[in-house]
Amino acid sequence: MVQKKSLTEDAQEVFRAIALIELGARMQVLESELTLSRDRMIRLYREIKGVSPPKGMLPFSADWYMTWLANIHASLFYNTYVFLKHEAGCSHLDALTKGYRLYLEHCKHSDAEPVLDLTRAWTLVRFFDADILQLTPCCRCSGKFVAHKHDLQNNVVCGACQPPSRAGKTKRAAIAKHNREAAQAA
Ligand SMILES: [Zn+2]
Repeated sequence: MVQKKSLTEDAQEVFRAIALIELGARMQVLESELTLSRDRMIRLYREIKGVSPPKGMLPFSADWYMTWLANIHASLFYNTYVFLKHEAGCSHLDALTKGYRLYLEHCKHSDAEPVLDLTRAWTLVRFFDADILQLTPCCRCSGKFVAHKHDLQNNVVCGACQPPSRAGKTKRAAIAKHNREAAQAA
């Protein structure tokens, strides 16, 4: 059955698709978020990216978000997403695209290479929606970080407050800065 959409609704869907593709969304993300036909989305993808969309499965494991650096990046993105959705009243899709843009800006300002791609960010939200992940408060900086649903909730420390020794000097400096800012905010 062909879904009847007004011209403006249709245009809005195209704009949403363009925004997602520009941010690096895979086809699976577009297909589950938008109502455009698969053929149109593939055409849009080719026009914007100049290549066909990559095939293959999406990353499925929630464990990816638990490694030290990925956890810091995922926590940064998800806190922004939650703020946009619950405090700023954004829809899920707006919170995803705006939150992801803010995350990229934050990386740029901190001279950090983005670790989380748009598809990982989208999958992260799905894991939260499916109750696989939760936000856990850090007992040092009181920031909230991404953790498995049934992990301990009390007296736990986030990755930014407790870097692995291999993280090196630059990252320790960044963490010291994070701690100072957290102390000021408290
Ligand atoms: Zn912390």
